[in-house]
Amino acid sequence: LRLCRFNEDRLGVATCDTVLDVTDALRLLPSCPYPWPPGDILIRRLPELRREIEAQAARAKPIRLEDVKLLSPVANPGKIMAAPVNYPAHLDEARTEPALHHQNRIDEIHRVGLFLKATSSLVGASQGVELSFPERRNDHEIELVVIIGRTARHVRRDEALDCVAGYCIGLDMTLRGPEERSLRKSIDGYSVLGPWLVTADELRDPSNLNMTLSVNGEVRQRANTRDLIIDVADLIVFASSYYTLQPGDVLFTGTPEGVGPVVAGDCITAEIDRIGIMRVEIRSTWRNGGISR
Ligand code: MN
Repeated sequence: LRLCRFNEDRLGVATCDTVLDVTDALRLLPSCPYPWPPGDILIRRLPELRREIEAQAARAKPIRLEDVKLLSPVANPGKIMAAPVNYPAHLDEARTEPALHHQNRIDEIHRVGLFLKATSSLVGASQGVELSFPERRNDHEIELVVIIGRTARHVRRDEALDCVAGYCIGLDMTLRGPEERSLRKSIDGYSVLGPWLVTADELRDPSNLNMTLSVNGEVRQRANTRDLIIDVADLIVFASSYYTLQPGDVLFTGTPEGVGPVVAGDCITAEIDRIGIMRVEIRSTWRNGGISR
């Protein structure tokens, strides 16, 4: 199942080039008393909703994919976890290039562990990325992203993949500079998730997936998840030794070599085997703001 969110908070099933509107399935979500359980209620209840989602998809009139606005496939993750340097060639480039490390010491993932990105940074492919600091260097990072499906703590490697609801393509957008990673990578729009969530029953083995990222048609990053320093299962083991994992939690698995800058007007195309392809536009900010009414 390829589950997407689109337009004004509609729920959809993506096929080759269409989206089937299955929003009515959401009426089966329970109305919980406050406080709601942590995590994303749809991902938590997905196993129970799945039959209804498939029934609605069978009846739905297809909408052309190019006519919908894709939102983040997970609406309300409790946390976004991310692996900082999890491919050997990216570790090398990060240590070599001053513009990447900014005098920060770059350690391998076994030493630095994971970091957290603000959930408010999350957007879908069609929303694009707004550069809040366009005068500074802003980089793209394509990553395989794991969406957690179960509540879990201290999981073993042999059960780790049972925690997975599905997979997405992620862009861990990065403002370069000396500040903490969690600040530079948590700007609004700097966690792009899409184009949809491919459920784990359709993607049982995440250990051999090609990924490619292009900017305006020029290939910048090309890699395979077989080169991950800590693979998906061990990342889940590691994350769950620090945090209770909750349904809807997002885990960015790290970017390979080839990170580079983007500017307003650029278009990123990101593709991962067996998940799909997404296009993400880069804009500069309008710096509108103030207190919401
Ligand atoms: Mn990253």
